[in-house]
Parts: sequence; C-alpha cells; structure tokens
Amino acid sequence: MLKKILKQHTGPLTRDLVQEPGRFGLGKIPSRLKPASTTTSICGFCATGCQLKIHLDEAGNAINLSPQSGYPVNLGMACPKGWQALDPLDATDRATTPLLRDESGTFQPVGWDTALDTFVTRLKSIKETHGRESVAFLSTGQIPFEEMALLGCLFKFGMGFLHCDANTRQCMATAVTAYKQSFGFDAPPATYADFEESDVIVLIGANLCIAYPILWQRVMLNRRNPEIIVIDPRSTETAQVATQHVAIRPKGDLPLLYALAHCIIRDGRIDETSIGNTEGFSEFSEFVTDYTPASVAADAGLSIEAIEQLAATVSEPGKRVSWWWTMGVNQSYEGVRVAQAIINLCLITGNIGKPGTGPNSITGQCNAMGSRLFSNTTSLVGGHDFANPGHRSKVASSLGIPEENIPSEPSLAYDEIFDAVEAGKIKALWIVATNPFHSWINRSRLDTLREKLDFLVVQDMYHSTESARAADLVLPAAGWGEKSGCQINSERRIGTIKAVKKAPGLALSDFRILRLIADRWGCGDMFGAWTDPEAVFKILRDLTAGRPCDITGIKDYDQLDGEGGIQWPYPKSKTQHEKFKMSTQRRLFEDGKFFTPNGKAKLLFTAPSPNPEPTDAEYPFTLLTGRGTSSQWHTLTRTGKSKLLARMAPPKPYVETHPDDARALGLESNASVVIRSRRGEMRASAYIATTVQAGHVFLPMHYPEVNLLTHPSFDPHSRQPNYKACAVAVTAV
Ligand code: SF4
Repeated sequence: MLKKILKQHTGPLTRDLVQEPGRFGLGKIPSRLKPASTTTSICGFCATGCQLKIHLDEAGNAINLSPQSGYPVNLGMACPKGWQALDPLDATDRATTPLLRDESGTFQPVGWDTALDTFVTRLKSIKETHGRESVAFLSTGQIPFEEMALLGCLFKFGMGFLHCDANTRQCMATAVTAYKQSFGFDAPPATYADFEESDVIVLIGANLCIAYPILWQRVMLNRRNPEIIVIDPRSTETAQVATQHVAIRPKGDLPLLYALAHCIIRDGRIDETSIGNTEGFSEFSEFVTDYTPASVAADAGLSIEAIEQLAATVSEPGKRVSWWWTMGVNQSYEGVRVAQAIINLCLITGNIGKPGTGPNSITGQCNAMGSRLFSNTTSLVGGHDFANPGHRSKVASSLGIPEENIPSEPSLAYDEIFDAVEAGKIKALWIVATNPFHSWINRSRLDTLREKLDFLVVQDMYHSTESARAADLVLPAAGWGEKSGCQINSERRIGTIKAVKKAPGLALSDFRILRLIADRWGCGDMFGAWTDPEAVFKILRDLTAGRPCDITGIKDYDQLDGEGGIQWPYPKSKTQHEKFKMSTQRRLFEDGKFFTPNGKAKLLFTAPSPNPEPTDAEYPFTLLTGRGTSSQWHTLTRTGKSKLLARMAPPKPYVETHPDDARALGLESNASVVIRSRRGEMRASAYIATTVQAGHVFLPMHYPEVNLLTHPSFDPHSRQPNYKACAVAVTAV
C-alpha cells in the first residue's frame, strides 16, 4: 500500500492528483447539490495560495468546491488538500463551547461570559503579580492577517504584554532573517511565473511534488526545456523526476554553496553589473578562496567533478537561473547563512530582478507572509521595526494610540519563551490556532513545562489537539471557511478568504473572540475602528505607506478579488505604479536597488559550523524529517479529519531505511522497529527503499511521535529550530 502511495506521488502522476475532479472532489454533482451561486476563497493550507471556487446553496452555505480557473496562481488546479478543504469543518471533535478545567482536572463546558471572565481575571492577576513579561502568546500562520494584527496589537498595545511569537518561527524565520539582513527588508523577490521562465531551476531542500504540488505544475508548464536540479540528501519524489539529483550529505549545503561561489569567481563567470549593486564582494571572494571543490567534497558528500559541473550549470552565461528553497534550508542550525549563500550566488551571477531568476524562498503556511508583515510579533505591524522611534511614532499616530504603549524592546522568540517558562518568568501561555505540544522540536519538554505554567489557554477549532488537551481553558474558534479576511502567499500575493459556513455551536471567529477580550480587558475603545476584517484591512493598508510593502493603492476586498489577488508592493502614487509596472506577475529588484540605506545588497557569510548532534557508535543514523504525502498537512489537525485525505496516507508512522542498513539490522519490509534518540523513542514500520542513503533514515513529520526524537538546536540568527538532522539508533523490535 505504502509503495503504491509513494509511487502515486511521483511527479508525472501528480498531474492526475491535481486535475481530476472525479477522484478528489466534485465528481458528478447530484442535482440536490447543484450550486445556487459561487464565491471564491484562497485555500487555507499551504503558501502556494491557490484560489478555490466555493459552491453555495441558496442560503449561502458551502456545499462543495473546485479550483478556480483563471487565477494567476493555480490556473484551475488544486492539490488533494485544497479539494477537501471543507471536510475538516464537519469533524465531530470541533470545539463548540468554551471548556474550563475544574478542580478535579476535568473539562466542563461553560458559556462565553465565564470563559472571558476567567481569561481576563487570571491574566490580569498574573500581570499584576509578575509583571508584563509573565504572559506570552504563541500563534499561527493559518489565520487571516486582520486577525493576526488584532491579536498582536491587542496583546502588546492594549493588554500591555511583550512576549509573543508564531509557529511561522518553525517554517520561515530563516528566510525572513536572511532577506532582512541581505536586502534590508523581508522581501522574497519571485513571482511564480519565474518557474516557467527559468532555464535552470535549482530546488534545494524543497520537495515540490509533495509539499507544493501546484508549484511543481508551474515547473511542468516551463517551455524552455529547463534543467531541473534537486539538491537534497534524499531521493525525494521531486528528485526522482528532476533532470539532476545532487545527493549531498545532510547539512553539506553550506560548504557546497561556498564551493560553487569559489568556482564561479575563479572562472570569472560573474556579472559585474549585478556585483556593483552589492557590498562585500572583495571580502566574499577572499572568504571563498579556501572553499575549493577538493576541500569541501567530503563534507558535501560529492565528487570534485560533480561540484565543478554544478557550478558551471548554475552560472552559464545567458541562462536564467532560479533557486528555490523550503524547509531543508530553513529548518537548520545554520539556515540563515545557507539562505544567504544562495542569495550570494544569485547576486554575483546576476540572477536577480529578471524573469526566471531569483533566490526564492517558498513560504510554508497559507498566511506566513501575512504574519511577517502584520502580526506585530517580531516586527512592528505594517513592516515596521519596534526598535525604530520614527516607526513607533508613525504607527502610534496612524492607529491613534499613545506612543508609550508601543514597546521598543523585542519579544522573546518561540524557544526563548519556553526557556522563560522553565525559568519561572512566564506564568501563562495563550496558544492560538497552533499545536506546539505536537509540532515543537523535542516536544516532550513541553509536558514538563506545562507543570510550570499557572494558566494555559488554547484557542482552536478542535478540543482534541495535543495542546488543547493540556489547557486550562479552551476557547472554541471558527476555522477557514467560517470567517473572512486576507492571506498573502509566497510570491507576495494578497487574496481574500470568505465565510461560507456557520461555525458550529458557540464557536466564534478569532476576530470576534479578540474583540470580546478587548472589551473585557477594558481597552475596547483602542480598537473602536477595528469593527470587521475589511475595516482592519484598510487600517493595515494605510499603515504600510512608505514602506517596501506599501499597499496603499489597494482600495478594498473587491479589488483584490477582481484583479486575481495583488502582489505587494502596490502603492498609491503614480510614479511608484510606473516603477513597478503594475501587472499580475511582478518581481522585486528589477532596478538593482535594494531596501538597505545605501540601496546595495549585502554579501553575508560565515564559516560552516559542525552539526550539533553528529552520529556516533551509539546513535549511528542521521534522521531526516519532512512532509510525507501531499494529503497531509503538518500535525494532521485538519487533514486527519478528512476520510479521503486520511486514505491517501499511511495511518501509522513508517521509517524509510536503506536496503544495506535493513540487511545489517536484520529487517524485513514492514518490520516493526524502534527509533531512539537521546531524547525519546518511537515505533514505526520499516519501509526499505533506496530513497534514503545508507546511514540515513527518513520519518514524515506528521506523526506526533517524531518530535520526541528531534534535537533542540536553533539557528543563532533566526532562532528557527533544526528539525532536519539529528542522531538516532534503529533496532528491530
Ligand atoms: S494546499 Fe497548497 S497547493 Fe494544495 S490547493 Fe491549497 S494552496 Fe494549493
């Protein structure tokens, strides 16, 4: 069965998965389900940002959906998750009423009055006793950015707390930091049309066929007969259908990228004009002098010839080369420098700001980009900086709030928030639409930390998540499809989502819950103009004036729908409009100017560091983790509720093991094995395949046991967890 599923998910067959309605969605529509009308909504899973056409009955309730044709992102396609996006709304474990844990430890259903009173009373009391740094929230990249902004502004400006972060820290903090440091702003340059306009497409740490099936379809639409190079330790579904698979050693990426720069500079295959738009080239050239192919071959796990050949391919004069990365780069202890090594290659070869080029991070969650601009967690809302007095003053006057309500200090990052819980400094946590008790690295630590918390609130669609089950108070929230707002995809395209179903029971949209909390807290007046999501959109739009993400030219939601979504920037001024040559596909940096004070991009680099947990005699295997199938999303909180999606993925964990290792361990196919790390252990069935190299094993990240094993190390610049390479032992049961 597993083999069949994996085979089904290889590239060419992906087209069937995304285009054949009968198998995954509509099929033949019974007459009772014929829609009275339709509306559109951006899919609420991944950051591809496909638009779906929602079919409504006469009362305006969703009865089905299909991919929207003509939308510039998905061009009429959707992956299995998109086709089944309505299923999770009908799950039986929806949170339909607030739940409050009683003295015996049992959840009791309560009304909103009791829930809100408890929430406000407990948090105010903790703040009064322990100060404003004693409460933190952890949120998400999965809710509309109007809700993110209300949450972040309410928490910091209204309730007067400081520390908050989102699960976007787990997926793209590395890309954010790399872009900010190199370009002066968190600015992914690509537009998806670049997939179709490249001559060489390099996918590094990115399994598009599985993780972003529609973006793989965009690659398939490329008519330039591109070289498709996958750099990945594992023979992923994408690597199997690429023109080249560069099977590096885990975390051999940084030395390899420096060696490529070495060869390109040595051979003079550089673009002087592009280098003129950068600073630090002479230091960078000197730095990579030592990174000869011979010196990195062992670390990269490649031959000298393979490195030379790759360097020649990615710097061929006249060829358009685009680099795309996802979690294989971001989730690393040195991911920021890896991302910047990719950026450096694009800058020195002139592969930026032109069709078919770019150092392009593909974001993870549907609204991670919205979180980056508007969540008011790491960055001040609207693409501003908490440390900048001018920015604080501008935001205060634009929002009509006292400037002293805006903190100048940064928030603790996700891992630092947990450290502060451990140290007894943070006493209460508010978790919104995320599930760290499943997804956080070395997650068993959270069970210990739970004991240290005086109060844990979880606001979610379901009462059954690992995090909700640990809570003192559960606030029932509406999900995607039950509320409105905007999301921003990986290519900076803003699109709308719509309420097409009523949330069950007493569940409310996060927006409504936050408004009620603001009133109870006594700061409702501060958000008097934040009446509904579209009103908030306009407030946020106006805040972006003059920033790189300026969207002051967008009138309203109707314009977003009418124009097929709109990529930022979209400023109001005519000259800016001319500069960005408004069209439905726009890339950044066409003028060679970056967002740094002197307009030049920075070439940043440091020497590679050793893997924090290398293999040894006791733990001889390197554990790789990643997405399992295109039907699974993260912790399965939603996709696990769809019967059809569940049928498309193995229900129990499996571990990919190389045949040589299986032989040495005495394993038959499907044998039960135990995988142990220094932090925990789990069981899985052995899937024996050459998809992994000898000495490596691969586990899909969706199963809750997997993060019992992962190693809690972090990139020092982005604080993103290093999920991808730790040491484990495998034994037959
Ligand atoms: S999950 Fe991603 S690829 Fe699939 S339909 Fe939704 S946005 Fe598109």
